[in-house]
Amino acid sequence: MKDIVSSPPPIVRNQFEAVRELFSKNVVPSYGRFDLAFSHGAGSNLFDVAGKRYLDLGSGIAVCSLGHAHPAITEALVEQSRKLVHVSNLYYTEPQGRLAAALAQRIGPGKVFFANSGGEANEGLFKLARKFGHDEGRFEILTAENSFHGRTLAGIAATGQDKVKKGFEPMVSGFRHIPFNNLEAARKAISPATVAIMIEGVQGEGGVMPAKPEYLLGLRALCDEKKLLLLMDGVQCGHFRTGRFQSFQRILENVGQASRLSQTSNVKDGDRRDASPMFLPDGLSMAKSLGGGFPIGAFWVRAPFADLLGPGTHATTFGGTPLACAVGLKIIEVIEREKLAENARARGDFFTAELSRLGKKYPGVIADVRGLGLMVGFELKPDLAKLPGDATKSQSIRFVKLLHAAGVLTIPAGANVIRLLPPLNLRRDEAEEGLQILESVIAKIEA
Ligand SMILES: *Cc1c(COP(=O)(O)O)cnc(C)c1O
Repeated sequence: MKDIVSSPPPIVRNQFEAVRELFSKNVVPSYGRFDLAFSHGAGSNLFDVAGKRYLDLGSGIAVCSLGHAHPAITEALVEQSRKLVHVSNLYYTEPQGRLAAALAQRIGPGKVFFANSGGEANEGLFKLARKFGHDEGRFEILTAENSFHGRTLAGIAATGQDKVKKGFEPMVSGFRHIPFNNLEAARKAISPATVAIMIEGVQGEGGVMPAKPEYLLGLRALCDEKKLLLLMDGVQCGHFRTGRFQSFQRILENVGQASRLSQTSNVKDGDRRDASPMFLPDGLSMAKSLGGGFPIGAFWVRAPFADLLGPGTHATTFGGTPLACAVGLKIIEVIEREKLAENARARGDFFTAELSRLGKKYPGVIADVRGLGLMVGFELKPDLAKLPGDATKSQSIRFVKLLHAAGVLTIPAGANVIRLLPPLNLRRDEAEEGLQILESVIAKIEA
């Protein structure tokens, strides 16, 4: 192939400092980064610039659902980019229509809008809610304490954590926070201006906190009664991570199965992907795993509200490019063909069971273990005396660094929670390797 521009001088391998220097000179320092620079990956493994291998139990924060350098993703990217990368939403393209159909088929009757990130998908849902309530003068959206909904201006107003708001006041108005998993508090918080409630099915940044089935069902009834939209942020907990396409389907599956069994005589396993007839949110945002690493976001809106955002009301230049949607379609195809939702469930059960066992063996270190599928969190006891590292940093960050040294990548959440968000195709032996390394680190700091 002919070189159009000459390639830049290669960064010498084994030179983490050189990469960091580029960042300190040129990249806005808005992230607290770990001292690791990666050069390539394969499956559930990542390799840093010095060639050290890491087992990736974080998947780039629940994004790389098929691991790294998956040939199906590469192939979809190459194949589609040979045909068409982008044309704008002035026109129709088949991949966008097909991905919208694939998502709606797995959620419920409704339509899909494509964006480029989770924050942008949530912005769309906020605008949908405002449009819905506009003529009645309703605009207020209730979100949960400890929630996370993105870093845009409305996203930080919606996020129920002070640390994301600090320094960016005044907040976008029209958001208030309610305690999570508390139905009575939600009912009490509703004002004449309230138009929607938004929650995560499993709070991610908030420390892996799943919604209770009765909370979801109660919010649905409450929103129906008060004419509110029930919005769910499925950016992190969605896309098969919990063992079903969306977390609410997993959370409600026993309730749902009972009701389905009473309606139909022969429920086959293949019907599980069908939307639960008894519960649907009115809007649902997606991103992270949706593109397996290729940036794409989306929101689904339930049929009665699907045409609220008419022509000219909402737009984004890159939303739903044929390239992004071809990748999205391929990922769903691979996940379903290789039964990776079932794998997520099995590997997740393994991690939660084994971590609970470690919790009993090392009661001085582990305070709690929570999870659904491959969204697993374990909480450290506060004030771990034997936890080394910079004491100005949180325990979760210091623990994650110990795991780095031992060759495993995980994601901190809050001050004390360690999150495991591995690729959905993590193998049993890889899960066992990860657990062994986790135990070796936990054992060292048990008092
Ligand atoms: C990551 C995340 C977002 C924000 O997504 P971006 O793609 O970073 O904008 C929103 N909500 C939840 C639950 C998330 O985990």
